[in-house]
Amino acid sequence: MDHAQRTRRGLLIVLSSPSGAGKSTISRKLMQDDPTITMSISATTRPMRPGEVADVDYHFVDDDTFQKLIDTDELAEWAYVFGHRYGSPKEPIKEALKNGRDTLFDIDWQGTQQLEYAFRTDLVRIFILPPSMAVLEQRLVDRGTDKDEVIQFRMRRAAAEIGHWAEYDYVLINDDVDRCTEKVRAIVAAERLRRERQPYLLDFVRNLVEKPN
Ligand code: ADP
Ligand code: 5GP
Repeated sequence: MDHAQRTRRGLLIVLSSPSGAGKSTISRKLMQDDPTITMSISATTRPMRPGEVADVDYHFVDDDTFQKLIDTDELAEWAYVFGHRYGSPKEPIKEALKNGRDTLFDIDWQGTQQLEYAFRTDLVRIFILPPSMAVLEQRLVDRGTDKDEVIQFRMRRAAAEIGHWAEYDYVLINDDVDRCTEKVRAIVAAERLRRERQPYLLDFVRNLVEKPN
């Protein structure tokens, strides 16, 4: 681990997109070759789907428990999405920021707006667009996880989600998944090097000029 990794602040990297544009695929690829990035595990009131694992995909909770999380200020953001509540636990975010670890969020535009208020300087917002609506629908069909009526519902929601593209720092079109992931890696690499994310530079530069040899 080099000096920069030890002392810089962590990043909060948000990936938003309409369902099926490729967030999960890109997140998986990103974390595969960079184990320092961890995924934020959201709490949700929606029922678990077949194949999902509790406390890995989501913390699945009932309405009362979710309400308690809100009342005790344990969520950094939360929102209603597709009729259920979803929220990002605050404590792991604070820990990661302090320890210079980067956190990836798969959350919608409502959650992204709330994170912006709380963590603006730590936040990197990336929006993923599909190449076309026809391709988006085909990807949802090919993924094979949703019934036809669920796919139609997601497609109706897609235009509304896409409408928030201009609130993001970076916007990528996911035509080729490897190329798109490479662009996300480039964004993360550049954002890690921003001046304000390297607080140790003040001392480093002072030493540099005071002890020229
Ligand atoms: P999201 O997490 O945004 O809902 P997924 O990552 O689950 O989307 O992707 C939806 C489907 O599209 C998956 O089956 C995935 O393998 C496929 N997919 C993702 N990106 C591409 C791409 N660039 N080209 C072709 N298929 C893709
Ligand atoms: P799904 O139920 O398909 O897993 O997720 C539905 C949507 O909820 C996705 O668009 C996802 O980005 C969003 N989502 C998941 N977790 C959170 C969260 O913690 N906060 C917010 N605001 N949105 C979330």
